[in-house]
Amino acid sequence: MPDWRSDLRAGLRSAADLARLPRSGDPAAAAAFQVRAPASYLALVDWQDPLDPIAAQILPDARELEVAAGELADPIGDAAWSPVPRLTHRYPDRVLLFPTYECAVYCRHCFRKEAVNEEPAVADLEPALAYIAAHEEIREVILTGGDPWMWPDARLAALRARLDAIPHLRLLRVHTRVPVVLPERVTDALLAAHDGRLMVAVVLHANHPRELTPAVAEACARIRRRGFILANQTVLLRGVNDDAETLKLLFQELVYRLGARPYYLHHCDMTRGLSHLRTGLEEGRLLMDALRAGLSGFCVPHYVLDLPGGAGKVPLDRDAVLAQDGADWTLRDRHGRTVHYRESSASTRR
Ligand SMILES: *Cc1c(COP(=O)(O)O)cnc(C)c1O
Ligand code: SF4
Repeated sequence: MPDWRSDLRAGLRSAADLARLPRSGDPAAAAAFQVRAPASYLALVDWQDPLDPIAAQILPDARELEVAAGELADPIGDAAWSPVPRLTHRYPDRVLLFPTYECAVYCRHCFRKEAVNEEPAVADLEPALAYIAAHEEIREVILTGGDPWMWPDARLAALRARLDAIPHLRLLRVHTRVPVVLPERVTDALLAAHDGRLMVAVVLHANHPRELTPAVAEACARIRRRGFILANQTVLLRGVNDDAETLKLLFQELVYRLGARPYYLHHCDMTRGLSHLRTGLEEGRLLMDALRAGLSGFCVPHYVLDLPGGAGKVPLDRDAVLAQDGADWTLRDRHGRTVHYRESSASTRR
């Protein structure tokens, strides 16, 4: 197994490294947003294919510099819900905590593009930790960023110990793309840094079945053997995964081979310069209809939209209830067929 540091060193580290690739992408877009990919992830690109779905996620594209109407620098309104630096508190029982803005790969579709473009600052999480300790309604701390697993093991262990000591917390969530793009980083020492009082959930970010290599499956097996919950989020991206066969294979392999439950399929948000990657909402719903008809419930994620302005996530899944008239319900089944259900008089009693 290659060392993760040498995998990063041998990969794409800056815009200057693009010149040695068969296709180097747009130089102006490369200058505008950070460029990075580990060598093992870069090796998944099929350079013969001008529309390769791996390349589309990492190669700078001139269209990233076009800002469409309605696109925003802070697309999901994180800033409006940030009472202290490096923390977002939008839902009462859970907060986002940002230990770092560094990532193993810089995704062209990143919704925190403008944040990860900053120099990774020396983390000072004290105000955020004090805030979490003072707010007894908080149950879950979600480490995000950037990528929390780019932090050194010792620092993660120290942070985990601080969170463990806050009695009202129950769950530590790590939202990371590292197991998918830099699987060798998922060492026993990294995982041991998370062992403690809190339940741990690791939420991956895989967008295409070709990303699920044997090394990624091994990293996921290590996470599960540790006793952590494993789930995955996917971003719906035009030209990467916007067809039912690709998504079906992705979600099946996540469950059947990696043991990672598909959690959310995110509609591409209003981040600036992503109009070439964004599908329509109805397109996404039609894809979900196809998935729901052909997949086990375990393999189907929730399709969600994170609203601009900080209003939060809304489910886009099609409503199963078409009409109701007293005890008579008109419902949509998994195949889109209209069915009727009549409640007994006992269950409709008010
Ligand atoms: C998505 C999100 C969460 C987590 O929400 P879940 O639905 O529990 O995954 C928490 N806080 C913010 C600000 C979010 O955007
Ligand atoms: S890993 Fe996540 S935070 Fe980092 S660039 Fe990709 S989408 Fe953005």
